[in-house]
Amino acid sequence: MAIDRTLCIVKPDAVAAGNTGNILAFLEGKGARFRAMKLVQLNRAQAEGFYAEHKGRGFFGELIEFMTSGPCLLVMLEGDNVQHDYRNVWMGQTDPAQAAEGTLRKRFAESKGKNAVHGSDSPEAAARELAYFFSGCFDVV
Ligand code: GDP
Repeated sequence: MAIDRTLCIVKPDAVAAGNTGNILAFLEGKGARFRAMKLVQLNRAQAEGFYAEHKGRGFFGELIEFMTSGPCLLVMLEGDNVQHDYRNVWMGQTDPAQAAEGTLRKRFAESKGKNAVHGSDSPEAAARELAYFFSGCFDVV
């Protein structure tokens, strides 16, 4: 197993609903470590840049409105196989109606759009997404 890093975002719906602590506790309970965190409210340019691959899709406008609607927590997770396990085992499907029992989205997501958390979908995406939000952050090495 590889010790790796990935990006988790506790999205604005989950922060607003007061689920930030529950989500962090869930992740700690799985053995993930927190390497860096920041609570931010994304502006439109930041959200559009982050989700650039979805530009042109029907839900893009709604996604950007949602992601800029309030604070979100950016979390750099570290641990054995954490990119794979967070994304594929702990997080759950995009649509909470299809998410497996015991996943974050099953427990905390309200809809396909407002789905509580983000997770990088590959090691390459994790590296890119962590750099997008954390590069230049002096305490992350
Ligand atoms: P993820 O990898 O499971 O987060 O899903 P995708 O990469 O397919 O989509 C990125 C994000 O766009 C999702 O997490 C949702 O917040 C949002 N999204 C995806 N599909 C829809 C949709 O049909 N409607 C809305 N409103 N948002 C969507």
